Amino acid sequence: MTQALTNRRDFLAAIAALASAPAAARLASAADAPADKRPNILFIMSDDHAAHAIGSYGSKINQTPNIDRIAKEGMRMDCCLVTNSICSPSRAVIITGKYSHINGVPVFNTFDGSQPTLSKYLQAAGYYTGMIGKWHLGSDPTGFDYWNVLPGQGVYHNPAFIENGKRTKHTGYCTDLIADFSIEFLKNRPKDKPFFLMSHHKAPHRPWDPDEKHKQMFADREIPEPSTFNDDYAGRSDAAAEATMRIDRNLMPRDVKEKPPEGLTAEQLKKWKYQRYMKDYLACVQSVDDNVGRLLEYLDKSGLAENTIVVYTSDQGFFLGDHNWYDKRFMYEESLKMPFLVRWPKRIKAGSVNRDMVLNVDFAPTLMAAAGLATPADMQGRSFLPVLEGKTPADWRQSMYYRYYHYPMHHRVQPHYGVRTHEYKLIYFNKLDQWELYDLKKDPEELKNVYSDPAYADQVKKLKAELYRLKKEVKDEDQFADKLPKDTQ
Ligand code: CA
Repeated sequence: MTQALTNRRDFLAAIAALASAPAAARLASAADAPADKRPNILFIMSDDHAAHAIGSYGSKINQTPNIDRIAKEGMRMDCCLVTNSICSPSRAVIITGKYSHINGVPVFNTFDGSQPTLSKYLQAAGYYTGMIGKWHLGSDPTGFDYWNVLPGQGVYHNPAFIENGKRTKHTGYCTDLIADFSIEFLKNRPKDKPFFLMSHHKAPHRPWDPDEKHKQMFADREIPEPSTFNDDYAGRSDAAAEATMRIDRNLMPRDVKEKPPEGLTAEQLKKWKYQRYMKDYLACVQSVDDNVGRLLEYLDKSGLAENTIVVYTSDQGFFLGDHNWYDKRFMYEESLKMPFLVRWPKRIKAGSVNRDMVLNVDFAPTLMAAAGLATPADMQGRSFLPVLEGKTPADWRQSMYYRYYHYPMHHRVQPHYGVRTHEYKLIYFNKLDQWELYDLKKDPEELKNVYSDPAYADQVKKLKAELYRLKKEVKDEDQFADKLPKDTQ
């Protein structure tokens, strides 16, 4: 027997012979074991949490020890980008693995829940699926065995939820409740199935209402202002100046919550508003961090940590006073970059950092691949599972396509589309017919539009060709011709 086992063919023949013998039942269960060992997936997503307000991304303004733990015990992705930087559209991209113009949610339209989704595929493959917290896609969640979501945007204090279609009212703070319900889901799940849980926080979305525990946390601190705080938008297209999401002009009394001291100069008032905004935003983040800690602790205690993929991300980035803005929408870095931290002790090296370009459209194919499922032919993203394992494919993408549609609501950010590579970003504001080009190596803060600089003429040509190629590749071909694109709305 020992000799026979030295030969793989003989070994397989021996197994086949045994399979027809009385020991077959035991062997069959051994053969089935890999299916039972598929990883659980805990996908934690917050709303509007910028990477630069997370410790492991080098935050200069706060500390997030629990979220950082995922990076420490897993991987931090430094170039995870959103394809349309706004809430509902990003969520639709994540759940379908398709771009906005294909999944039917370019703005705040109602999601057609009859289409195939990540949760439906995982559910059909035997996963127990759950969606808890902020859904914000207009229609009821589909493809979930259990769902308990906020109606619309939801509120921070004593929120209503809709549990499997039934409206319920709760006492407490939204972020705590979402973690409570997520832990309940994990406790009550059928233990013979792997689980897939989307645990989505409302925080730190506007209007940034902190809980009592963290309300005063930043009261005595001065939050450093970002280096682009006084950007005057010189040299850009008309879009930046038109946008109504400025710290000094557009933060409302509801946002800052207190009356400013009397007699402040315009500059002092801007600084005061920034402090008010950031202190509440960061207090909301702190509650998310505490509750991420609670979920990680539950995984530890229940013995689930080893075989559970834990993701922490946000539906897009956010401006934290950068360029004098709050909110998102623009293709500029602070809004384009999504935090993405992932832990999977079996397959991802602890403490690793990756700079490959991954997109929210890739999330569904990646999580499906982790569950052993092939990417459906009509999904547009690509699995970055090999990237997580440190084996980036040689033909991995070097550029990405971005498109934003929502105008004029709510902040008059002009529609635009563009291409980003590791070195450059070319943006076309299609209603204005104006372009911007940034040299990301020389000008990472994107303060100098070099589109008209003759030194970049060749680069502009190359990037336009790449933009048109990507536009075609993702099938966003409306009114697109080989001449300069005009209004494509
Ligand atoms: Ca959002």
